[in-house]
Amino acid sequence: MTTGQVKAFKLLSVAGAYWRGDEKNKMLQRIYGTAFEKQSQLDEYLKMREEAEKRDHRKLGKEMDLFSFHEEGPGFPFFHPKGMLLRQNLLAFWNELHDRYEYDQISTPIILNRQLWEQSGHWDHYRENMYFTTIDDAPYAIKPMNCPGGILVYKSNVHSYRDFPMRTAELGLVHRHELHGALHGLFRVRSFTQDDAHIFMLPSQMKQEITGVLDLFHEVYSAFGLEYHVELSTRPENSMGSDEIWELATKTLKEAIEEKGVPYQINEGDGAFYGPKLDFHVKDSIGRTWQCGTIQLDMLMPERFDMTYVGEDGQKHRPVMVHRACFGSIERFIGILVENYAGAFPVWLAPIQVKILPISEKHMAYAAELRKKFKKAGIRVELDESNEKIGYKIRKAQIEKVPYMAVIGDKEVETGTVSVRDRAKGDLGAQRTDEFIAHIKDISDSRKG
Ligand SMILES: [Zn+2]
Repeated sequence: MTTGQVKAFKLLSVAGAYWRGDEKNKMLQRIYGTAFEKQSQLDEYLKMREEAEKRDHRKLGKEMDLFSFHEEGPGFPFFHPKGMLLRQNLLAFWNELHDRYEYDQISTPIILNRQLWEQSGHWDHYRENMYFTTIDDAPYAIKPMNCPGGILVYKSNVHSYRDFPMRTAELGLVHRHELHGALHGLFRVRSFTQDDAHIFMLPSQMKQEITGVLDLFHEVYSAFGLEYHVELSTRPENSMGSDEIWELATKTLKEAIEEKGVPYQINEGDGAFYGPKLDFHVKDSIGRTWQCGTIQLDMLMPERFDMTYVGEDGQKHRPVMVHRACFGSIERFIGILVENYAGAFPVWLAPIQVKILPISEKHMAYAAELRKKFKKAGIRVELDESNEKIGYKIRKAQIEKVPYMAVIGDKEVETGTVSVRDRAKGDLGAQRTDEFIAHIKDISDSRKG
């Protein structure tokens, strides 16, 4: 293609950037532009870009008071009360599912000694991305991954084939160094929580376990209306492990996704040297894709840490180990959800489900009673106690994207009702308070909206 074929182009922005993202380097000027063969393609692209800008989670996160970043800790997110509610709702869903799929949960320390990271191979291969500290004059590291901690838990007991499959999940806070210039809201941070799990099993249980993980991931992504496809990365050169185990592992992964009818593509030779993997790419409401989940088979860690189980034959064997994460990073997934919903979260996920808006001071006492009633029913509620006019209060709740507003005036106080406003449909008229509560509970508990 030559530049002559470029019919439609546009200069998008100009920005200063440090060479290689490092503030110690020189400031350069970056010019961003784009070009297409047809004007219609350019128009489509610009529309999508405009939509993405409106949905920018950094902007919405501030407007909705969900989270913030501070100079005192670049790349370390701070969650505000409403961001925390969102996070807890997400995790309640996650916990419920992992309980149903029979995972146990563990928690392992953030700081572990350097020797452990040497044994795991992180010291040799991942040191550049790690943070270090000293305790009692000995070298320690802040964990960039949860696996070594999980392995120590595994190794604190003797295991038999009867214990398998063993599904151990950990919502683990990890720290990874990123260059200052590469940081980007919740999408690229220096500390985040992985919804991690390690599954230990017999080779004969691989199929059933991978299928179980696929079902679980499907439930998670579907709950947010996210479509997804999978990429299968196969054996690279210089890999470890026997031909048999690689063949079995790759075949099993492939069969499991094919049986589930998940669309996938194969990245030949792109797996890690210690095992094949599946990466999950979800598609948001404006067509962008994000890599979230991963399922990875590991032949290295069981060797390095001399992990064993006692088989039916009474002999010691190596277990098959799988690492998997569904959201990937909880913080990043929250960023994706903010952009996917443009901040208008479904009722079950919304930090605040109902905002009570008294028209004037004299309706405040009734509004406060209502607040108590909603709260007692388990509804996430907020009362606007400001002296502003009702129009202003409604606009504010609208910016906060609260699913429902309950407007309280003379008539509502007299009749014991609430005047309901839906953030999308507007005025829904008067409803009996208990009916309104039952309606919200129903949508929220079933996660239907
Ligand atoms: Zn792991």
